[in-house]
Amino acid sequence: MIPAQFEYSRPAGVQEAVRALADGGEDAKVLAGGQSLIPMLRMRLAVPSLVVDLGGVSDMRGVRDDGDALVIGSMTTHDQVLHDPMVREHAPLIVQATSTVADRQVRHMGTFGGSLAHADAAGDLPSVAVALDATFEVEGPGGRRTVPADEFFVDYLTSAISPDEVLVSVRVPKLSGWGTHYEKFNRVAQAWALVGVAAAVQRSNGTISDARVALTNMGATPIRARGVEEALIGAPATSDALASAAQRAGEGAEPSSDLSASAEYRTHLATVLTGRAVAAAGGI
Ligand SMILES: Cc1cc2nc3c(=O)[nH]c(=O)nc-3n(C[C@H](O)[C@H](O)[C@H](O)COP(=O)(O)OP(=O)(O)OC[C@H]3O[C@@H](n4cnc5c(N)ncnc54)[C@H](O)[C@@H]3O)c2cc1C
Repeated sequence: MIPAQFEYSRPAGVQEAVRALADGGEDAKVLAGGQSLIPMLRMRLAVPSLVVDLGGVSDMRGVRDDGDALVIGSMTTHDQVLHDPMVREHAPLIVQATSTVADRQVRHMGTFGGSLAHADAAGDLPSVAVALDATFEVEGPGGRRTVPADEFFVDYLTSAISPDEVLVSVRVPKLSGWGTHYEKFNRVAQAWALVGVAAAVQRSNGTISDARVALTNMGATPIRARGVEEALIGAPATSDALASAAQRAGEGAEPSSDLSASAEYRTHLATVLTGRAVAAAGGI
C-alpha cells in the first residue's frame, strides 16, 4: 500500500529535530531506520502529518566510552553495534542479542535506538536494556532527561518518550567480571522471538554472587525475572540450583496467546530458556 500524504523534515541536529517535532504537533513522527515505521505507514497503521527523519543527525550515531559506561547513539545501526569493538568488549550481551535480530538487510538499516523506542514486546533489545540497567537520554522542548530502563517501557509499543521528544542515546554500564548470554526461541531463523531471555551472571568461589535476568515477549513490556534472580543469588553454581531457579521464570509475567504460541507454552519456554541462558552466562 501507499502511505497517506505527509510533510517531511530532515534536521541536521538534535535541537532542530526537537523544534521540528514541536512545530508538527502530536501528529508528527520520528523516522529512524524505517524498518518498523515504513511498513506501518504503508499499511496506514500510522498516519502522521509530519515525518521527522533523523538520518541527517550525525551526532546521534556511534558509540562513546564514558568511563564506567558506554554511550550508544540512538541512530547507530544494528550492524554498527554488532561490529563495534567497545560494545563487543564491554557489553557482549548486546552483541549476542543483536546478532539474532532479523537479517543483514534489516540490521544495516534498523537502529539501536529505533528498536528501543518502538518498544515491541517481541523485540530483542528491550529485555537486554532492562537486564543491563541501561538509562535512556531523551531530549524535548524542556531539555534533556534521563529515564531508567525499568521505567522506559510503559506498555505494548509504548515507551516513556513523549511525542515531542527524541531518544538521543542509551547509556549502558560496563559489566566486568560478568558472563552474559541471550537465548532466543523462534520458529524459523531470522524471525521474531516467541520468547527470549537476557541473562548476566557473576560467580565467586563456586556460588552465584549476582544475577540479572530479563524476558522478551512474556508480557506487553520486557519483564525482569526477579524471582529467578532472588533464587540464583547466593546459590551454588550447579545445574540443580539453576534448574530450580529457572522454575520461577513465569512469576509476574503475563504472556499472550496467539497463533504462534499459547500463554502456557510461552511460560514453559521461559523456564527452559532461562535455564539455558543462565547456564551459558555462568559457564555452568
Ligand atoms: C523483517 C523484519 C524482521 C525483524 N525482526 C526483528 C527481530 O527478530 N528482533 C527485533 O528486535 N527486531 C526485529 N525487527 C525490527 C528491527 O529491529 C527495527 O530496527 C526496529 O523495529 C526499528 O528500528 P528502526 O531504526 O528501523 O526504527 P523506525 O522504524 O524508523 O521507528 C520505529 C518507531 O520508533 C520511533 N523512533 C525511532 N527512533 C526514535 C528516536 N530516536 N526517538 C524517538 N522515537 C524514535 C519511530 O517514531 C517509530 O514509532 C525486524 C524488522 C523487520 C522489517
